[in-house]
Amino acid sequence: MTPAHQPQPVVIVGAGPAGASLAMLLAERGVPVTLVEAARDFQRQFRGEGLMPSGLAALEAMGCGPLLARLPQRPLSAWSFQLHGHELFRVEEPLEGDRACTLISQPALLDALLERASRASGFGWKPGVAVVDLIESGDRIAGVVLSDGSRLGASLVVATDGRSSLLRQRSGLELERRSSPIDLLWFRLPSHPRFEGDNVFTMLLGEDGSACSLFHGALPGELQLGWVLSGGERIERSPEAWGEAFAALAPAWLANHLRQVAPAISTPLKLSVQVGCCSRWHRPGLLLLGDAAHPMSPIRAQGINMALRDAIVATNHLLAPLLAGDATAIDSSLEQIEAERVPEIRRAQALQQQEARQAQLLRRSPLLRRALVQLAPLLGERIAHSWRQRQIPLRLGLAKIQLTV
Ligand SMILES: Cc1cc2nc3c(=O)[nH]c(=O)nc-3n(C[C@H](O)[C@H](O)[C@H](O)COP(=O)(O)OP(=O)(O)OC[C@H]3O[C@@H](n4cnc5c(N)ncnc54)[C@H](O)[C@@H]3O)c2cc1C
Repeated sequence: MTPAHQPQPVVIVGAGPAGASLAMLLAERGVPVTLVEAARDFQRQFRGEGLMPSGLAALEAMGCGPLLARLPQRPLSAWSFQLHGHELFRVEEPLEGDRACTLISQPALLDALLERASRASGFGWKPGVAVVDLIESGDRIAGVVLSDGSRLGASLVVATDGRSSLLRQRSGLELERRSSPIDLLWFRLPSHPRFEGDNVFTMLLGEDGSACSLFHGALPGELQLGWVLSGGERIERSPEAWGEAFAALAPAWLANHLRQVAPAISTPLKLSVQVGCCSRWHRPGLLLLGDAAHPMSPIRAQGINMALRDAIVATNHLLAPLLAGDATAIDSSLEQIEAERVPEIRRAQALQQQEARQAQLLRRSPLLRRALVQLAPLLGERIAHSWRQRQIPLRLGLAKIQLTV
């Protein structure tokens, strides 16, 4: 370990939103930080793009407002729920205040955070190399082993390596799973002029219980579509067969478009969704953050927002002990970070689960769906009001988070 009273070196593993933002905040405040990322760049095929007002506010608190304005992005204009090709209700964005849920290009955002971090003299960047193990010294974690065989010593290792975190497994910190994992297929397809002017997050539920959601992503001309996989469903289908499956759930104008663009539908990417929270987020010298500590469901775009909020809270607690070089104080601050973050994470996951249960109920009950289609003209507005009220806590965050250092 570096002698006490000197800033202590930190290794952050994984440059997703949690790792990249924490690295930037600590490095800018004088902490020597090395950020290790298994991928060579941020152009990976998939990372959710939806930022809620709570995540946009977190980026602004980090001083990223001007940078944010320059990134490829697209706000949502509304949310629409369609059953058997009929609109049950539509709710306009922004639901409250003046910030709409916004799709932001994640490679561009992560590049921008990294670019800012790189201006700090103590920042080191190691892309294209995976961490394969932890180094232990007595009862402390003292660094990491990289896939090229080299070793990096650190007074603190922060594991922000995502929902399948290797470091969580290596550390023995246990994940309590909240619900059974589901699989999603992710597609990209050419946009329709209607989405260009009116970017509605559209949820479609068909007569056979099939479900998908689609919206215009951050990049020009591209729709994104998430298909909920039922157990045993065949995924080896031609693009035309997928186009037909999507069209069967859609109103006529959208069904026509989906059939027309079918040859250009991308090969689907299978994404496993798991949800949970570790019963303990830390060991001496090691902290889990972001999805590594609490993998989030994609429902109502929470994970990036929570990851950014984790980074702010971690910076508040870690900065002083890291600068002072006090190992005991570093370890106590890990407890404080977990204690501050757990209530919001658990509440957000419970609200997401509530939404998931309602969707599941609708998917499984043709009777309920038919009744809702019949009653939509009478009850649509009431259902929309109740949905809207349920969303507000998920958009604004469930705790007061401020960057105080
Ligand atoms: C289908 C789906 C859609 C989603 N959509 C949204 C959305 O629209 N909005 C939203 O807010 N959230 C969404 N989420 C959740 C969101 O993606 C995550 O919660 C968020 O990315 C977590 O950020 P993170 O920084 O903790 O981890 P990640 O973003 O997963 O980043 C982890 C990083 O660690 C790197 N890594 C992994 N292992 C190693 C290793 N051994 N060594 C070095 N590097 C490593 C990975 O390459 C990766 O870059 C979605 C999730 C899913 C599954």
